[in-house]
Amino acid sequence: MEGSVNLLQNVPEIEPDGVMKRIELHSPDATASLEGKLGFFYEVGGTNGVDAKARKNLEELLPIHYSTRIESKTQLQDEFEVIVAADGYQSMIAKKTGLLVSTTPKQIGVGVGLNIKGEFDPELIEIWLDESASLHGYSYVIPFSKHEASLVSTSIGNAINHETYFKWANELMQSRNWELQGRWVDFESWNDFSSYAKDNLYVVGNAGSFTETAFGFGLKWAMQSAKLCAKAIDENIDYDNLLRKELFPDLESFEAMRKFFDTAENPDFDRFVKTFKNPLAKKLAESGKSLFKNSWLMHMTFPKTRITKTIKD
Ligand SMILES: Cc1cc2nc3c(=O)[nH]c(=O)nc-3n(C[C@H](O)[C@H](O)[C@H](O)COP(=O)(O)OP(=O)(O)OC[C@H]3O[C@@H](n4cnc5c(N)ncnc54)[C@H](O)[C@@H]3O)c2cc1C
Repeated sequence: MEGSVNLLQNVPEIEPDGVMKRIELHSPDATASLEGKLGFFYEVGGTNGVDAKARKNLEELLPIHYSTRIESKTQLQDEFEVIVAADGYQSMIAKKTGLLVSTTPKQIGVGVGLNIKGEFDPELIEIWLDESASLHGYSYVIPFSKHEASLVSTSIGNAINHETYFKWANELMQSRNWELQGRWVDFESWNDFSSYAKDNLYVVGNAGSFTETAFGFGLKWAMQSAKLCAKAIDENIDYDNLLRKELFPDLESFEAMRKFFDTAENPDFDRFVKTFKNPLAKKLAESGKSLFKNSWLMHMTFPKTRITKTIKD
């Protein structure tokens, strides 16, 4: 197995580019501010992204064939004993190998993004929960530096009218004195799988839909699934079982938030944001622990949602 020992022992730690110390949550009629060690910023893509840096470190350690498009599993069959498909949400390999229950995704997410210039706090992320800012989703400003940021509207469904959100974003940009640099549209999708491994093929990250369904975050589970996959291969244990025990419970806890997004209207968003004005709820959220790990906070934030599984204090 070409390079497998190095792969398991020498993968360098990924250093964050910055620390998220403040979150401002906005709804049509409320704003709440949270402060603490709330998360990390990683730049992905481009020449400065964590992926480019990791690639530079790994290039000398592993015989990886970068910039090679894989057209089918058979292209790799003779050269490798094991194939791990990490080819993203449209994974051609997962589809062709018959791991999907259906080739029609069960959920599609659309991100409409604007690269903007202006004055930004590099430790702050602002989030908008508002029907005119997104559809069953949320919008956010995430800084790249003091002068550059990304303003993104994330929605669920593939029939989104992008112009509605550009209109909302333009109004926000004008009120904040931000300048438009460029626009992009990106997608995510979620599929049902019958299994995540077949013969010598495994899927990890977005290729296996290891992305939570509420916000569409997946970096943590891309890394976790890759680690579990390495363990399954190295110790010859069942990958599906490992995922069931160690990864899915974490993803399932986001279902309550997804249910909220699916039906929420502006008054619900206002109620949600006002929750974080309650000193106890604010303190718990600021502790950096997951909202889903605290049943009292879950009840406060999603009073209509009945949680029946995987929520433990
Ligand atoms: C707009 C947007 C914002 C996001 N923000 C966040 C966030 O803030 N936090 C978070 O945790 N997650 C976020 N996500 C989700 C996150 O980006 C993904 O979950 C994560 O990148 C998954 O990593 P991956 O390596 O599995 O797949 P990807 O990052 O999609 O990488 C797949 C790679 O495979 C390559 N590829 C595809 N087909 C082939 C082929 N045939 N041959 C060779 N290579 C191929 C692609 O070019 C790509 O480089 C966001 C997603 C989007 C769309």
